[in-house]
Amino acid sequence: MDCIFCKIANGEIPSATLYEDENFRVVLDIGPASVGHTLILPKKHYEDVYELPDELAANAFCLAKRTANALKRGLHPEGLNILQNNGSMAGQTVFHFHIHLIPRYREDQIALSWEPGVLEESDKKKIIKKVREQF
Ligand code: 5GP
Ligand code: ZN
Repeated sequence: MDCIFCKIANGEIPSATLYEDENFRVVLDIGPASVGHTLILPKKHYEDVYELPDELAANAFCLAKRTANALKRGLHPEGLNILQNNGSMAGQTVFHFHIHLIPRYREDQIALSWEPGVLEESDKKKIIKKVREQF
């Protein structure tokens, strides 16, 4: 399989690496949204969040927390978004699971907001009925 993030995560392609362990590589995004935009890549290939084994998912978020703290201490952003896209409709362009850490700075021009809708009572009931039984 020809996956760019498999190659980066496993060191076959050089990358701006901030951290590496047995299961993950943490690299700077090549097309950063802001200074310090970072990606957490598992070394094993999983397409998206749905495929992740539980233990890897837990470790990935733990590492996201550590990375957030490292970025905060090193770069002093005024905020930080943790973002993870699944499916092209959600903006996923590389189909190897990854977590974005996007440090935020005053006037950085990044738009991650939406117009809030209203959670209608009838929708709420339908959604709960459909989803609860899927856990
Ligand atoms: P997605 O849209 O799939 O959530 O995010 C893919 C991210 O990977 C984008 O932010 C893009 O800039 C980044 N990216 C794509 N190719 C490369 C690459 O070769 N190296 C690095 N470091 N980042 C990449
Ligand atoms: Zn891959």
